[in-house]
Amino acid sequence: MKKEQFIKELQKLDVKNKDVITLYNEISSLAMQCAGDITPTEGKRNAYYLSMEFLIGRSFYNNLMELGVLAQTQKILTDKGVDINVFEEIEDAALGNGGLGRLAACFLDSAAGLGLPLHGYGIRYKYGLFKQAFKNGCQVELPDDWQKFGDPWSIRRAGEKRVIKYADMEVTAVPYDMPVFGKRINRLRLFQAEGSEEAQKISEYLYPADDTEEGKILRIRQEYFFSAATVAELLENFVKHNGGDFNNFPEYNVIQLNDTHPVMAIAEFIRQLTSDYKLAFPDALRIAKNTFAYTNHTVLPEALETWNEEYIRKILPEIADIIVELSLYAKREQAECGSAEAEEMAIYKNGRFYMANLAVYVAKKVNGVAKLHTEILKSSTFKAANKIYPGKFQNKTNGITHRRWLELCNVELCELIDSAIGTDWRGNISGLEKLNGCTEKFAEQFTAVKAAKKHSLLKYIADKEGIKIPDNFLVYAQVKRLHEYKRQLMTAFAILELYFGLKDGTITDFQPSVFVFGAKSAPSYKRAKAIIKFINEIASKVNSDPETSGLLRVVFVCNYNVSYAEKIVAGSDVSLQVSTAGLEASGTGNMKFMMNGAVTCGTMDGANIEIVELAGRHNNYIFGATVEDLTAVKENGYNPADYLKGAAGRAVETLVDGTFSDGGDGSFKELYDSLLTYKDPDNYFVLLDLNSYVKSLLQINSDYKDKKSFAVKQLNNVANSAYFSSDRTIAEYSREIWELY
Ligand SMILES: *Cc1c(COP(=O)(O)O)cnc(C)c1O
Repeated sequence: MKKEQFIKELQKLDVKNKDVITLYNEISSLAMQCAGDITPTEGKRNAYYLSMEFLIGRSFYNNLMELGVLAQTQKILTDKGVDINVFEEIEDAALGNGGLGRLAACFLDSAAGLGLPLHGYGIRYKYGLFKQAFKNGCQVELPDDWQKFGDPWSIRRAGEKRVIKYADMEVTAVPYDMPVFGKRINRLRLFQAEGSEEAQKISEYLYPADDTEEGKILRIRQEYFFSAATVAELLENFVKHNGGDFNNFPEYNVIQLNDTHPVMAIAEFIRQLTSDYKLAFPDALRIAKNTFAYTNHTVLPEALETWNEEYIRKILPEIADIIVELSLYAKREQAECGSAEAEEMAIYKNGRFYMANLAVYVAKKVNGVAKLHTEILKSSTFKAANKIYPGKFQNKTNGITHRRWLELCNVELCELIDSAIGTDWRGNISGLEKLNGCTEKFAEQFTAVKAAKKHSLLKYIADKEGIKIPDNFLVYAQVKRLHEYKRQLMTAFAILELYFGLKDGTITDFQPSVFVFGAKSAPSYKRAKAIIKFINEIASKVNSDPETSGLLRVVFVCNYNVSYAEKIVAGSDVSLQVSTAGLEASGTGNMKFMMNGAVTCGTMDGANIEIVELAGRHNNYIFGATVEDLTAVKENGYNPADYLKGAAGRAVETLVDGTFSDGGDGSFKELYDSLLTYKDPDNYFVLLDLNSYVKSLLQINSDYKDKKSFAVKQLNNVANSAYFSSDRTIAEYSREIWELY
């Protein structure tokens, strides 16, 4: 970065009569010009991260921070009469859905920060994840036209476009490069589909509706589109820089598949090697086996991708042939297995392709994203494969980049940390552990920092949502995608129990509290949408009740995204991480809260387990059934109605007793039935854990009375959060999978 030049040009910049978007584009372009080019990587081993999602968020502040000019930019703009916060008008680039996409963005940040050559490859969607609005408390989706603010952080590389062929059409893939700044400059390359109207559709939407054949085929086109463009580029570059002996390809390239969405890249890699470069199939397969690695992100059966062979054959016949061929090779290799095991590992059965099994077969390493999740992969989901491929499965507990999730979003806390332990931790995050020696000493100052961040959060919520919450409230937050397994509904019931308890006097001595929700539901996920509506109904009732509104409030923030998350994690006291044990692969929201000093109120699931292992169970609040408990409960036959006695029953009955209205669509009754009357009711064990959840929330509430000791708990979480920096995660991937040097 030519800092001096940037500063000089910025000082000269005329800001008069320019709107925010113009200024945003001019300042960003200036930074891009001064930043320099992507660091060359020829002759070295590079890692490539293929992902359908990159949930980048806002680039402006983060990039200026990475380039080391954020503070100066703020000052220069202030002198010119421009408040740097005006750029919050620029909306997020939400080219992802949730955790998996945000992880990809954090990984790129950490790799650049550590000076490792890791490059992202994905799709440049015209519209990102929808913008959420509420109408009568229900979610409505609006298109997210993120490019309307301009895209000054991307460079179009028209000279490097290439044609992607399907049986029925040709599409041009045009790369756009976003530099990722750090110790080196890495590349996030997103491909845009160009050509006919049909062709352009491929990069129009993130996750187009796939409930029809047409929708499914579009999804397959998308997955193939960026996989094929990436593979073609890597093979071509290899020939250009490293000669034509593909046996050496894995020396220079490793490809990490972020979940199964890019698994088509394996088949395409073999297709290009055999058709375009004339290698024999077994040779191509051997090279693929030394090149690819695969990350699994979920054990929910409905999320493990399978494709109808017919659909793939229709638009990509050669790919279908290769997958069938791969399944035969796999079967031969796995011949010693029993038939149940063979069935479990099958890549091709009953006319369907099993993409996770394909990935597991070819990948040199397969990793889960938290200790418990990896154990579940090894002992259950991929049990047979783990047996015949010992050493293939590894754990890589997720992380978050502490640059965005601490240094950018909580400048005040960082300054306090500096004053306590010096600034070395900023260069090497493990230095944060030094805080462990002085959490008592800095508790009071921490309370002041938390109060300031809470004040900004609550002010932001008041401006945005029109709901005013006093600064002295204890803030509980549950922000994440809306899904039944994440159990926002359980929090809703818990709030109702608190509300009724406050009204009838069974709960006394209660510290004023607010529950903050943020979540988008998949547009076609009816039950999740009903939960949003239910929580909004609870919010209007609770907030407008003069008997309780001084003690309890509820707010469901609209359009939760990365930028909102930056404010919420910094300003909250309690992080609600209450998924059904065994179902949240890792979670990364939990880590963001921890690093900003919120205590975790959660189940023994995903990375929560590692959080309390490191920060101490006494500094957090663990409740509910464990994986082992649930196994026993299932064996004994679970009857949720057994858990409806007393307060819980009253809370659950509000779904059907007329307390709240679903607007007449029957969706609250349907929620009720899913918990109590359907076959296998309450699949996610909401009622089983509700009672202990409420107890845990009340314990927190009571502990909060002693501000000092609560602050010590919170600071102990900060002090032990270094492990959850994605710098640690990336260092592990780099050493144990990618072997970058
Ligand atoms: C971190 C993050 C997530 C992931 O949250 P979980 O609680 O781990 O599910 C989802 N969405 C956004 C915007 C995030 O920043």
